[in-house]
Amino acid sequence: MGRKFLVAGRGGLNLTHDESRSDFVSRYSGPDPAAPLWDSLLNDFDAAALRRWAAELGVETFAASTGRVYPRELKSAQLLRRWVHRLRKSGVQFAMNHRWTALHPRSAGGSISLDFETHGDVVAVAVDAVLFALGGGSWPETGSDGAWVAGFERLSLSVAPLCASNCGWETEWPRSVLDLAEGLPLKNIQASAGAASAAGELMVTRYGLEGGVIYKLGAMLRTMTEPEICIDLKPTHSVDTLVRKLGVCRSNFLREARSRWRLGDAAFALLQTQCGDAPEFPSTEAIARAAKACRIRLRGPRPIAEAISSAGGIRWSELDDSLMVRRLPGVFVAGEMIDWDAPTGGYLMQGCFATGSRAGTRAVDWMRTHLQVTAGGAG
Ligand SMILES: Cc1cc2nc3c(=O)[nH]c(=O)nc-3n(C[C@H](O)[C@H](O)[C@H](O)COP(=O)(O)OP(=O)(O)OC[C@H]3O[C@@H](n4cnc5c(N)ncnc54)[C@H](O)[C@@H]3O)c2cc1C
Repeated sequence: MGRKFLVAGRGGLNLTHDESRSDFVSRYSGPDPAAPLWDSLLNDFDAAALRRWAAELGVETFAASTGRVYPRELKSAQLLRRWVHRLRKSGVQFAMNHRWTALHPRSAGGSISLDFETHGDVVAVAVDAVLFALGGGSWPETGSDGAWVAGFERLSLSVAPLCASNCGWETEWPRSVLDLAEGLPLKNIQASAGAASAAGELMVTRYGLEGGVIYKLGAMLRTMTEPEICIDLKPTHSVDTLVRKLGVCRSNFLREARSRWRLGDAAFALLQTQCGDAPEFPSTEAIARAAKACRIRLRGPRPIAEAISSAGGIRWSELDDSLMVRRLPGVFVAGEMIDWDAPTGGYLMQGCFATGSRAGTRAVDWMRTHLQVTAGGAG
């Protein structure tokens, strides 16, 4: 249970983020933006609510100087164990090794029927209401393989294709870059893609670029027919300052820039690629401009199986503000299977908890209203 939750714990389990509501809401995007809904979802279940939930399970959290919030132990196992224990105690029954394959909508006055595959058999389960939280398509070995998409499409629901998000991007590095910079970071850089920009760190890898900066630019890069990022290797200096720092220099601009601008190996290797076929830049100004706008053509994102999360999923237009499928009363959805995207930083977990909390409470309300069940009967 909670295999992806456990995997997230390997990186410390960044549960949420400590920042203002308006900044928080601005992190959530998608081709089908639902900003007003995110405002309301985060109003009902914000970072403080998520931290309170952990505290109620006896797990203290802290906010790092970056704003990222983690459990004190920087792991998920304890939190997951206590969570599952509390659920069992409150009467939740778990049916492991059951793979949902189909939903048969409610016929007049009847129940919703769900098909599950288990150990080669198919079992049908009749329910009053159902909340699906089947995840996205990244890290399929955790069980979240996105195979549910076909089941929802069979119900004629519109599902945006799942695609890799918060992932590395591929490029064709020349041998010179790999020899000098493979596995090395580009620190304190600023990068942009179209209208989006991000500051921080990038890592040069065998296949391209990894790291927080490219994860943040991913949503924009996915919209570009010829994805490209533009890296400012010296964001705190203007072109004029860089030229001044080079002083009187009439040749060997690359060598001089490397020492006078204190370029790391990765930054130097990237800058070298900006001369095109020429061995050198023609002037101090040309090299300074290149350092402020290193253009790297990208081939595409890494495979979805490697990504931290996936974008795409059930389109917001299919859902009401209870996260109930408009055309399927009693069917609710939550988490990464909805068509939203957010960067790393705790926003993914927070998004899943906020949508889960909304869909869960509204499912109970819905049953109370439509099925006249009592709170005790709304299991
Ligand atoms: C390496 C890694 C590190 C991460 N670190 C962080 C982090 O620090 N902070 C953060 O905010 N986010 C992090 N994330 C992202 C976060 O883990 C996910 O966004 C989140 O787990 C998604 O929650 P979910 O409930 O939507 O789906 P999931 O957690 O993916 O759960 C979906 C569940 O549904 C089950 N399932 C799928 N299909 C079926 C089916 N047909 N029938 C029955 N069951 C099915 C799966 O087995 C799984 O148990 C990380 C992700 C990865 C891969």
